Amino acid sequence: MPDPSPTAGQHSPAPRAAPAEVKLLALDVDGVLTDGSILIDDRGVETKRFNIHDGLGMRIWAKMGFHLAVITGRSGGAIQHRMAELGVGELIHGCADKRAALNALTRRLGITPAAVAFIGDDWPDLAVMAAVGYPIAVADADQRVRAAAAFVTSRPGGRGAVREAVEHLLAAKGLLDRAAALYHAPAPPAAGHAG
Ligand SMILES: [Mg+2]
Repeated sequence: MPDPSPTAGQHSPAPRAAPAEVKLLALDVDGVLTDGSILIDDRGVETKRFNIHDGLGMRIWAKMGFHLAVITGRSGGAIQHRMAELGVGELIHGCADKRAALNALTRRLGITPAAVAFIGDDWPDLAVMAAVGYPIAVADADQRVRAAAAFVTSRPGGRGAVREAVEHLLAAKGLLDRAAALYHAPAPPAAGHAG
């Protein structure tokens, strides 16, 4: 049997945007910033494992002057601590309706939904992916989510997918080299100054 039709369901899709037009990158957490595992210790405390390359990608995106938001249906200390560490100002957690939350955020920021990229992995992300201009799926997302995406990363959630998406967007904007240059070592002193 061939794969089911690549439809995201009943949601009317937003006009697709070019990746160069993206001003706000919004992320799901479980399965996108993590591999989908939820670790619960014997006291019932939930912990998560985040990827350091994803974290740097998020910092780079913000440093280049673009908006970043994290939108998740779950809550918990781990995500709040990690997003605070990364300086993510827009953390929307315990969110029952991601599309409504994103609409409120774009209105507040003065950004059209067409200028939003959202990275998702599973069915609760389909409605918000249909509402943004540049939906992105991680490599190991559900097949309907991948079919709804304008871009599917080659890396899975929690293992560099967010970093890859950031580099993809910056490359489309022609900003990838400038972003990498933020991390170059300062040039050595001119030879004439030595000795
Ligand atoms: Mg998820």
